[in-house]
Amino acid sequence: MKKYDVIIIGGGILGCFAARNLAKYDLKAAVLEANNDVCTGISRGNTSIIYPGYDTKPGTLKTKLCVRGCLEFENLCRELDVRFEKRGSIMVAFGERSEGVLRKKLAQGVENRVPDLKLLSKEEVLTLCPDITDKVTMGLYCGNTGTVLPWELGIAAFENAQKNGVEFVFNEKVVSIRKGENYIIETERNTYSARGIVNCAGLRADEVREMLFEPHVRIVPTKGDYFVFDTGVSLRGNHIIFCEPEAKGKGLTLVPTVTGNLLAGPAEIPSEGKYDTGTTQEGIDFLLRNLKEKFPTLDTAHIIRSFSTLRPNPYYVNKNNDNSYVLNERSISNFTVTRDEEGFLSFIGIKTPGLTCCDGLGKLAADAMAEFLGAEINHNFDPVRKKTVRTDGLPFEERAELVQNSPAYGKIVCRCRGISEGEIIDAVRAGAKTLDGVKRRTEATSGRCQGSFCTERIMEIIANELCIPVSEVLKDSIGSKVLEGLL
Ligand SMILES: Cc1cc2nc3c(=O)[nH]c(=O)nc-3n(C[C@H](O)[C@H](O)[C@H](O)COP(=O)(O)OP(=O)(O)OC[C@H]3O[C@@H](n4cnc5c(N)ncnc54)[C@H](O)[C@@H]3O)c2cc1C
Repeated sequence: MKKYDVIIIGGGILGCFAARNLAKYDLKAAVLEANNDVCTGISRGNTSIIYPGYDTKPGTLKTKLCVRGCLEFENLCRELDVRFEKRGSIMVAFGERSEGVLRKKLAQGVENRVPDLKLLSKEEVLTLCPDITDKVTMGLYCGNTGTVLPWELGIAAFENAQKNGVEFVFNEKVVSIRKGENYIIETERNTYSARGIVNCAGLRADEVREMLFEPHVRIVPTKGDYFVFDTGVSLRGNHIIFCEPEAKGKGLTLVPTVTGNLLAGPAEIPSEGKYDTGTTQEGIDFLLRNLKEKFPTLDTAHIIRSFSTLRPNPYYVNKNNDNSYVLNERSISNFTVTRDEEGFLSFIGIKTPGLTCCDGLGKLAADAMAEFLGAEINHNFDPVRKKTVRTDGLPFEERAELVQNSPAYGKIVCRCRGISEGEIIDAVRAGAKTLDGVKRRTEATSGRCQGSFCTERIMEIIANELCIPVSEVLKDSIGSKVLEGLL
């Protein structure tokens, strides 16, 4: 049996940041992840926004972590060598009802001490964002709103935690937990013992918690569909735009991401369960209709990808008279963090702004475990992580020198993004095992052709590096084979 002080279940953004924060203490810790890489769950597909904190209820943990997280994000990204753009945002209204919402959010933001927040007239909105329809009536500006690539951040935290001694075990799905002197954790392949558990299992955090405790909160997912535009399509002004719907309905968000792609979404659609990740016609129609109405100059012919992600909505569970469980009112105003025993902490159904609060939540978990276990500070912790080489954008002389020393950096594999063979090899050596693992680390296959020209070559490089047949190379999660055999 493998013994640890703390085991983290789940390697999404929360698991990676819990791991990085635990590494600041003198503790033996491991992350058990069911999938083959970090950030393959909710953390790989979200709106990528670092929220300033005017949207959340005053006085809650969510607000405290969000406001602080946003203010500290630039420093965090500098430490981890991750791209972060503080774009500023405008929440736009289209009539009386939504203007009322904006005024309330301004008051809430002031109460939450969010800086650089002000109402804009119709004319001011149109000056800052000329691509929005002139039906707009008012705006709420916030200078602190930013954007980051969620998986780039998660991967950076993973690499930094690993460098500081936290072990990550992949393809290691936890199937049962029992309590003896310590917690005994069974996976499909191994048995582990730990004095403390941090449950970061995302959509499955309710199921993991219920391996040991009575139901308390159950996750009932809904879906969010998104569009990605080709680089070259942008909003003048480059702000993040939130549309507050006038009639009862859903809003639309537009994000100029750090990769230069415009992201639009999400459409909120019912889901058929925790595996239902396909896009829907309803979601696509909603997005197209809203884009045309609100941003008439945006050319939807330049959409290069659509995807869907699941929202882990937490519903409280009550016992009926007949002892059956019923779900009641959905929890939206705060995060659901449960501590059923001192050594067992769960993050259940952490939705927006979980990305903004990833470091704050990770710190909360690590501090709780360290206090419980009486752990000392790890004075050898090194917070700095450096990303691997990116040839695109390097000055010509530096690039020439790099290619001279390592010719693989001169062989361009992904032509849309300008990614070389050397960068793909670096990504595999840093932990990528699949096509999407390479994509999340290098952006290869994420350009206009979406991998039509380079997928085959990248599969060969992965196969060569991992010493496996090309037919075994996966698109992403376990079972996502690209080839069904070779001719
Ligand atoms: C549609 C949408 C948009 C969002 N947009 C934003 C935004 O713009 N800004 C923001 O701040 N926040 C945003 N969020 C919130 C943010 O994305 C989430 O809070 C965050 O990604 C949750 O991460 P996680 O680590 O809890 O979950 P996940 O990333 O899903 O990770 C959970 C991991 O646990 C693993 N796992 C599950 N069961 C087991 C098991 N039994 N054993 C081992 N491993 C297991 C899974 O494989 C998975 O890798 C958004 C969320 C959604 C749904």
